[in-house]
Amino acid sequence: MTITSPHFLLVEPIAKTPFPPLGLLKISAMLKKEHKDCSVFAQVGNSIPPGLYRPEKIYFTSLFTWDLDSVVKSIRFYQDAFPRAEIHVGGVAASVLPNYIKKSTGIDPHIGLLDEAEECPPDYSLTFGRKLNASITFTSRGCPRNCKFCSVKIHEPTFNVCNDWERNLNLKFSRIIFWDNNWLASPNLKTDCEKIKLLGKIVDFNQGLDARFYTEKVAEMLSSINIDPIRFAFDDVGSEKAMINAIRLAKKYSNREIRVYVLYNFEDTPEDFYYRIDLLNKEGVLSFPMEYRKSTHSKTKFPGPHWNSSILRALKLSLLFYYRKGMITESRKSFYSIYGKSSKEFIDKLYSIYEYDKKRQNNGR
Ligand code: SF4
Repeated sequence: MTITSPHFLLVEPIAKTPFPPLGLLKISAMLKKEHKDCSVFAQVGNSIPPGLYRPEKIYFTSLFTWDLDSVVKSIRFYQDAFPRAEIHVGGVAASVLPNYIKKSTGIDPHIGLLDEAEECPPDYSLTFGRKLNASITFTSRGCPRNCKFCSVKIHEPTFNVCNDWERNLNLKFSRIIFWDNNWLASPNLKTDCEKIKLLGKIVDFNQGLDARFYTEKVAEMLSSINIDPIRFAFDDVGSEKAMINAIRLAKKYSNREIRVYVLYNFEDTPEDFYYRIDLLNKEGVLSFPMEYRKSTHSKTKFPGPHWNSSILRALKLSLLFYYRKGMITESRKSFYSIYGKSSKEFIDKLYSIYEYDKKRQNNGR
């Protein structure tokens, strides 16, 4: 068989989000720019895509550290299949635990963003098995804050803005998903809003807006764009005042659905978590609980200092069975019936859910 053009393979070892791996879409564009007649193959998991022949290079992405064993397995699979291929490993998890990849595969992963690829717009012709109906981009990278539980600083150590993020868009999509860590901290906020307004697309700042920067002026400015839903994060009870203020301003200037990410299992207690979700429920917005997990390659969950595995499991079950897409509804009645009227009732109810599930599992044996 005669090969006239180089083949490249992009691998997402394990797919756990509705979005294709943006880094690999950008790498595809970079490769196509550097090698005019190349063929780029995209693969989720371990399988050889039809038509692929002796790839020159294989790029692996990674996302969650607890899935790194799947990444390692995948690297080994393709190393065996294509021993002469040059292997590149990157992504968030590999940046957070590079030594684990090195120790397990002998490969030094790339830490952080790949500058040459960052400059390229994503190659939306690759979807990695997803149905894509939105462009994905960033107006900024990094974050000026330094929250203890967050690993953004490792992957994107400096906060900087992107002045021409529009080039990452595919205008045939009616929505734009922004993956900014902290858009409201951007000095370009006003110009970004003007650009979004001109584009006339629905936008979603998927990682949440920083309530502490959500002033009346910002709320008014954002009311000129079609942002849906409006997302915030309420990770720490210390930002309660800013949170409530932001929700009320968002309601004053928009009628969009408000969703709030609520971190738990870090240094908080279940009582503190209940206090935050109760507060949000009283304000009539959706809570989206997000469990903190340590950056370890192990799949084992480590309960935070004030949590235990029984109530963590019960909370997950309650979100799975009682609520839409893991979000606690705005309904006060439903909130009371599932989580109770006090933190004590909340904890008792979680233990009852846990016991009920244990019994159900034992009966099924
Ligand atoms: S504000 Fe958000 S992105 Fe920034 S450090 Fe804190 S958690 Fe991370």
